[in-house]
Amino acid sequence: MDFQFSAQHDLLRKSVREFAGGAIAPRVAHMEETDEVPWDIYKEMAKQMYMGILIPKEFGGTAFGNLARMIMLEEVGRVSAAVAMALQIFHLGTAPIIDFGNEAQKKKYLPALAKGESLSTIAVTEATGGSDPTGIQSTAKLQGDSYILNGRKCFITHSHVAEVMTIMAKTGEGPKGFSAFIVEKSFPGFKPGRKEKKFGLHGCNTGEMAMENCAVPRENLLANEGDGLKVSMAGISEVGRAGMAGVGLGVINACLEASVKFANERILGGKPISQHQGIQWMISDIYMDLEASRLLAYRAAWMRDQKMRCDSDMAMAKFYATEAAVRCAKKAVDIHGGYGYMMEYPVQRYYRDAEILIASAGTSEIQRIVMARKALTSFK
Ligand SMILES: Cc1cc2nc3c(=O)[nH]c(=O)nc-3n(C[C@H](O)[C@H](O)[C@H](O)COP(=O)(O)OP(=O)(O)OC[C@H]3O[C@@H](n4cnc5c(N)ncnc54)[C@H](O)[C@@H]3O)c2cc1C
Repeated sequence: MDFQFSAQHDLLRKSVREFAGGAIAPRVAHMEETDEVPWDIYKEMAKQMYMGILIPKEFGGTAFGNLARMIMLEEVGRVSAAVAMALQIFHLGTAPIIDFGNEAQKKKYLPALAKGESLSTIAVTEATGGSDPTGIQSTAKLQGDSYILNGRKCFITHSHVAEVMTIMAKTGEGPKGFSAFIVEKSFPGFKPGRKEKKFGLHGCNTGEMAMENCAVPRENLLANEGDGLKVSMAGISEVGRAGMAGVGLGVINACLEASVKFANERILGGKPISQHQGIQWMISDIYMDLEASRLLAYRAAWMRDQKMRCDSDMAMAKFYATEAAVRCAKKAVDIHGGYGYMMEYPVQRYYRDAEILIASAGTSEIQRIVMARKALTSFK
């Protein structure tokens, strides 16, 4: 057992940390205020090949893998959970094509996605199907050489900025009644719908997507008709949940750093509040949550790199890191006293950003169901 990162991973962390500090940090206030998508940051991340981290080299990616991706998300999330969320969904959007695409689909889509020339996402959720994706109502009907998609997706990250997306729709009944398609924004009948105004993650676009007789070429079916649940849930379970854990790690880091700084600088009764045991307990709790989240998240990412089954490990990492991010952000706000509630201090942002990490890629209750399923069969 080796708990050390490789020299290459250490180098990656250093370079992402520098990038995040130099290119993302100065833009956070503007994103907070305007909720505008930071295209300049996306372009820079694309140049650095951040989008293609899971894409095989033969299709233009770096194939650095899941552990490297976790490092990247932790470092970006430390500065901006919104940008880390955007990055995580770009990766998630590419995963179904990497894992289930045929050679022609990979050749057509992956090189541009690897370079960040096209942005991607996955669209499963609908008003009638969130935690239970089998509740979705969107349909896909084969007519000649095209599937005709009709329906409406909600809460989709990059709803208005993605050019290439995996969309799940109904092609029949029962668990095999779903199929997944690669849909381009330019396909006739596809259009983004309402943009959501969110409590946090400002600068990361979320909204609806509408398909009105949207014609998708038959060759854009991913895997086989009836494999839609498998294709979509494989990506969400392993790449989506890992990604949310990575963003959570970033938020916890930010909470710890802000809390230590404030506790050392805030003088009350002639001494810094960091000398009060009550404050130290909160700081030690945040520190412990960071380390526990890291162990779960990096182990699960390493398992995926080893091609081991890791769905319940990802669920555990996602549950722990995102719940911990909320706990830690509350403690960070508490350590700041009244200042913590003021927009001038970043901890209020960490609190708002942390909360939304719980619903994305499956709520904590859904992660518990996944973990319980594993526990009930493994510990008989
Ligand atoms: C910021 C953001 C970005 C997102 N991005 C995407 C995206 O890019 N693509 C995409 O497809 N989706 C996306 N989603 C949707 C997300 O996956 C769903 O919000 C999530 O799956 C929960 O679904 P829901 O919101 O419909 O809640 P519901 O399913 O209505 O759940 C409501 C409550 O009921 C609980 N619940 C539901 N079922 C059970 C059960 N069986 N047992 C116990 N409790 C249960 C839930 O845990 C929750 O507390 C995003 C969501 C957010 C907030």
